[in-house]
Amino acid sequence: MTTVAAYAAPAAKAPLERTTIERRAVREFDVLIDIKFAGICHSDIHQAREGWGEAIFPMVPGHEIAGVVSEVGPGVTKFAVGERVGVGCMVDSCRECDNCKAGLEQHCTGTVGTYNAIGKDGEPTYGGYSTHVVVDENFVVRIPDGLPLDVAAPLLCAGITTYSPLKQWGAGPGKKVAVIGLGGLGHTAVKIAHALGAEVTVLSQSLRKKEDGLKLGADHYYATSDPKTFEELAGSLDLIVSTVSAPLEFGAYLSLLRTGGALVNVGAPEEPVTLPLFSLIGGNKILAGSAIGGIAETQEMLDFCAEHRIGAEIELIAASEINEAYERVLASDVRYRFVIDAATI
Ligand code: NAP
Ligand code: ZN
Ligand code: ZN
Repeated sequence: MTTVAAYAAPAAKAPLERTTIERRAVREFDVLIDIKFAGICHSDIHQAREGWGEAIFPMVPGHEIAGVVSEVGPGVTKFAVGERVGVGCMVDSCRECDNCKAGLEQHCTGTVGTYNAIGKDGEPTYGGYSTHVVVDENFVVRIPDGLPLDVAAPLLCAGITTYSPLKQWGAGPGKKVAVIGLGGLGHTAVKIAHALGAEVTVLSQSLRKKEDGLKLGADHYYATSDPKTFEELAGSLDLIVSTVSAPLEFGAYLSLLRTGGALVNVGAPEEPVTLPLFSLIGGNKILAGSAIGGIAETQEMLDFCAEHRIGAEIELIAASEINEAYERVLASDVRYRFVIDAATI
């Protein structure tokens, strides 16, 4: 066991504060990572405030981890000391079920979350708002050389969560793809959908971030507060990805799809939504969900992002600014991901 510095929420809704936690000694297949950067995902806030239900405290959030390997266990074959690596939302799974065998570890009932979870050893897991983490090599991915670690960190959740549904639902040349919400996930979705060759539309609450959206790769930008948006775009889109952290009127958005089009939701609001089912029946619409992505797909996404020079747009902060950053994320005042410099922890 090693004692390391971290930022933790001591209780639900309490501000995060500096503390120390124990990291396990490196086991046979473990990798010790010196964390360099950790992104702040809106999911960290949902969990630290117990918005998704009962949580484990003290909680060290953070599942967008980028760092450098500083020690490996004797059985490790995939990584060597000095390599640049990342860890996302999972640190273990059962490894035997159909989901695990299919590379869909995120759907395994035995998945162990990077934080706010209990590991197979019965100990709570602690996330990336920390200086070091010990992770089994099978849940570590390589960050390609072309990707700086600070802008790569958010890809470990925001990147894979948007890459996976965009690929699965065929975003590419000739496809009209819209992204609802230009936050951490949304801005990554815009960059990836553009790189995949799709015609990209941003659906944001206002036109405040229009200039940014177009620079990120969007072809069109609309305010959802303007009822004319829904008239103009009616029946025109092939695919919509919703990254919104609050309940949304999905019925209105489904009306923007062409016949047979799909709205894939990745947002995880704390409250349920209501849905007029006629918005699905007319036009044979599809409403689907998507959860992060598997480990192999996460590596594929990082390689794709490196090839297309895609990193997150970040605001680098000191750990002492985490609570302020949380408030700004809640106010949709983020351009476009806060990333903690682990050297300040
Ligand atoms: P974020 O940076 O806060 O972005 C969310 C965006 O949604 C905001 O920037 C805002 O965009 C829009 N929005 C916020 N409140 C809204 C409201 N009341 N009505 C309409 N639009 C609103 O959050 P994030 O980190 O991207 O995460 C987004 C959601 O995805 C969270 O719920 C998170 O927990 C979830 N998530 C899910 C997965 C998964 O595997 N499915 C993975 C990661 C995160 P505009 O200002 O442009 O309107
Ligand atoms: Zn996340
Ligand atoms: Zn499994």
